[in-house]
Amino acid sequence: MTSPAQSDAAPNDEVRLERLTSAEIGRAIASGVRTAVLPLAAVEQHGCHLPLSMDADHADALAIRIASGLGDALALPTVRVGYSPHHLGFPGTLSIRAETLESICLDYGTHLYEQGFRNLVIFSGHIGNYPVLQRAQERLEAALKPLTVVVFTDGSAILNAWRRAAEDTASLGDRVGGHADLAETSVMLALHPERVRRAAYLRGYTGTVDDEFLSKVFDEGMRSQSPTGILGDPNGASALIGEACLAAVTDLIVAHAQSRVCESDGDRLRSPRTPSSQESGGRYE
Ligand SMILES: [Zn+2]
Repeated sequence: MTSPAQSDAAPNDEVRLERLTSAEIGRAIASGVRTAVLPLAAVEQHGCHLPLSMDADHADALAIRIASGLGDALALPTVRVGYSPHHLGFPGTLSIRAETLESICLDYGTHLYEQGFRNLVIFSGHIGNYPVLQRAQERLEAALKPLTVVVFTDGSAILNAWRRAAEDTASLGDRVGGHADLAETSVMLALHPERVRRAAYLRGYTGTVDDEFLSKVFDEGMRSQSPTGILGDPNGASALIGEACLAAVTDLIVAHAQSRVCESDGDRLRSPRTPSSQESGGRYE
């Protein structure tokens, strides 16, 4: 047996950078890990039935799945607080400025290349960070060279993936609205069911959520468009739908990252591991 006792080491499939030792990360890089995944999130109101950690818990879970899906990647610690000025009308919401969020992405990425990483994949579990990422994308790509920076910026693709997953799983696609809705509530039921106040579900705004509507939310605040703070309807949420939503968004971001990294440098994403790491079955041993 080459595997150390469980109490002495991270599990072989651990992809969270902060759960590994520095030596384990060094071995991971030596055996072919080239990509860091940076999850962004928010600490903001999510209706009466979900805690403020919804997007951060979601981003934590997506990052693990995305890093595992990419196969040569580690997940950086989630940036838990995000750009949420449109939710400040509700108690407890925290918000950092767009330039602060961009600076955090820049600072997280600055030393990755010299440590052996070649790619940085940035995504958000909070849809409200996407306009910030769209504006910051080119600056981050330029500033972090020669690191290849892949910024996933398509918030509407996530909404569409949730709608399809909810429709295919439970014929409830029309209850997806993007915030504290069927999709997010289902994701929390899949990840941390004890955090969901099931007796407090309320139907929120269920009209069209398009770019025009979302810019009103951003400009005038969530409360002006939905007094409950909910876009969509959590009724009918289930862990099964949550798993389907997690899988759909993981596939979306993994496919985007793979296509972008292949475009810029095809051989970087899938560097061969050393035979010994494959023989032992351990990723970082
Ligand atoms: Zn959310």
